[in-house]
This record gives sequence, C-alpha cells and structure tokens, in this order.
Amino acid sequence: MEFTKLNIIPEILQALKEEEYTHPTDIQSQAIPYILNGHDILGSAQTGTGKTAAFAVPILQLLSGSENEKGVKALILTPTRELAIQIFESFNKYGKYTGIKTAAIYGGVSQKPQEAALRRGVDVLVATPGRLMDLMNQKIINLKKVRILTLDEADRMLDMGFIHDVRRIVSSVPAQRQTLFFSATMPPVVAEIAGSILKDPVKVDVMPDAPTVDLIGQSLYYVEKEDKRQLLLHLLKGSDMESVLIFSRTKHGADRIAKDLNRAGINALAIHGDKTQKARQMALESFKKGKVRILVATDIAARGIDIDDLSHVINYDLPEDTESYIHRIGRTGRAGKAGKAVSFCTYDDKGLLFQIERLCGKPIPVVADHPFEPLFAKPVQRVEVRRRIRHFGNKRRF
Ligand code: AMP
Repeated sequence: MEFTKLNIIPEILQALKEEEYTHPTDIQSQAIPYILNGHDILGSAQTGTGKTAAFAVPILQLLSGSENEKGVKALILTPTRELAIQIFESFNKYGKYTGIKTAAIYGGVSQKPQEAALRRGVDVLVATPGRLMDLMNQKIINLKKVRILTLDEADRMLDMGFIHDVRRIVSSVPAQRQTLFFSATMPPVVAEIAGSILKDPVKVDVMPDAPTVDLIGQSLYYVEKEDKRQLLLHLLKGSDMESVLIFSRTKHGADRIAKDLNRAGINALAIHGDKTQKARQMALESFKKGKVRILVATDIAARGIDIDDLSHVINYDLPEDTESYIHRIGRTGRAGKAGKAVSFCTYDDKGLLFQIERLCGKPIPVVADHPFEPLFAKPVQRVEVRRRIRHFGNKRRF
C-alpha cells in the first residue's frame, strides 16, 4: 500500500515524499485511518516501527485548518527529553507545509525559551511529564483546549515513576477528547491505566519484535569478564563497524568503556542519566552527524533514541531485563534496514542468555575461535587436549 491510499492531505503527503517515505509501515497503515476517523487507539508498538509518524501524521491532519484557534490542541506525553525532541522534530518535518506550530518542553534546561515558545502560540505540545507539571503549577500552560491526547512509551513513562504526574495531567485535559496510547509492553499496571483513560479503543498490535529483529544479524561472543575490554577493541579495530551503539549495564560502566576506548585511540562518547542535558545532547548530535562513531549508553538513556543508519549494536553487558535485549538490538535494523547486533556473554550471564533466547524463540549464533574465547565456551575435547599439552608439553606423549 502507498501513503496516497490513506487519504492524507497533499501538504503532508508532500512532506512525506521529501522524507522519502513512500509506503506506510505496519503501524502506520493500521493506525492512521482509525485516528483520522476519531477513534481512540491502544497501540502495542516499540520505537523503530514508525510509531511516531503513525500518530504525528493524523494529528497534523486533524488539526490542519484550526491553526487560528488559540491554545494547545494536541498534547503528546513522552518519557524522555531525547524522545520529546525527536517527536518535536518529526512534527516539524511532516507538518512543514501545514502551518501547525509545535513546541517541546522537557526538564534539565532553562524553562525561559520554552515559555517564550508557548507565548508565541502552540497547536501541538510535546512534553515530558515532570516539566509539564512544573509549568502547569506555575499556570504557564493551560490544557483546556486539548482535543487529542497521546501517551507515547507509556510503559517507560510509568517505569520512570511518572504515574502520578501522568494521572494528574490526564485529569487536566478535557474528558471529551481523542486519546492515543502507545506502549511497547502492556504489564497489568499499564493496561489498567489504558483502560481508565481510553474510550472503546481500537487495538493496534504491531508484534513488537519479530519483523524488526528478524532483519538483524545477531552474534554472540562468550568471554571472560576481564577480557571484555580487549575483545571490544579487537572487534572495533579495522572493522566495518561504522556507527556503533554500545550498551553498558551501569552508568559507571558506560563512562569506563568510553574512557578505555578513547585511551586506545578510538573516539567514543558516553550518555547516561548522570550526564547533563547539554552533554547528552552534544554527544547525541556528534554521533548522529558521524563525528564520533561510537556511543556508549545505558538502557534508560538510549531507549527510544532514533538514529538512522546505525550499523551495529554491541551488548557489552547483557541486559538484566530480557525485554531490553529486543529494545537494544532494535536500535539497528530500523525501518527495514539490515543491522548487526553483537553480544558479550560471561559465564555468569548464561542464565540471562537462556532467558533472552527463550524470548526470541531461537538461539543467538555463537562466534567461536575468537582470540578471547574463554575455556568455559570451548568444546570439552579441545580444552582437554590443550590442558594435556600444557601439562605434558608435547602432543605425542598421550
Ligand atoms: P519511529 O518508530 O517513529 O522511531 O521511526 C523509526 C524510523 O523509521 C525513523 O527513523 C523514521 O524516520 C523512519 N520511518 C518512519 N516511517 C517511515 C516510512 N513510512 N518509511 C520509511 N521510513 C520511515
């Protein structure tokens, strides 16, 4: 199917054409017609599926023609600043011929420019819950004109402790509205919130993982914990890895990996929650522009980051939450492109690996015979032979 079949207005079609989007992704072809018809949506979809355009395009269309009415008419709540900025940029791209004005508000930066943008008049507001609550408490924002409320990455938002803010914000928006609710996962608490704020929603399920994950070439390296650093250098040096996102389990670990790489002459930057907003933003920009080819991140910092042309994801540490594995490797292989995901697995990680493989429904292919292959990963016979060689010094004696 082509975008032209979705009854999208020419102003938006033209912008999509310029982005070289010809065919809608699954979630877009499923959700856009219902949203245009005024339905509430309960969408199970992760980042990487084209979810942002699935709500941005119909919202822009529904609001087009009402640019002259004052007030925020669509509110999008999203968990992180990075996501808020990306969504804001998407609205600007798809809406550039519509005259709809979008603003983004998020914490960690001065509120003055955000206030100024609000004063100039805003049709679509993209916000993280904390900063939005701040501005609402200061009576700088009024949500009484909101007709369309979107909750993006709802599971993440609740996981980050925004549940009370989200409830309060929802109760400040008119009850007579259209609500779009997107979440990668639907644990009971998320389903309960969805049930309480949606009216007769249409369920849109883009089975999170399979389509994207299938395109990704996955490989697994068994390694001793103390050899991970060397293995990483070995893989990065003289390789085809153009743009690499490396995942660390901890913030401290992310800093250490970036430091080790820089020491070895490989440019790398780290992003995580303890870095300032400015530092995170700069790191992300440098990476997106290709100035540094390696970004080291924790799950929370990286979740939802939209980077085109990411060639590799490296799981320096396997994630403790197995679903994060899917989210992590989904950073590559975006919108139909092939990508590669490399995972390191220590002896202690074998339990996690088992769970990840069970979730994916198949084993991750193991790379054997690499220079840092640990004893625990070697076939028993080979280990035995080497042990004997070491012991007897000469093959012929046994
Ligand atoms: P999202 O899931 O919204 O983060 O989108 C993932 C990526 O897919 C982004 O880089 C989008 O620019 C891209 N994208 C979204 N929709 C399409 C489409 N219909 N055709 C090609 N690329 C798309």
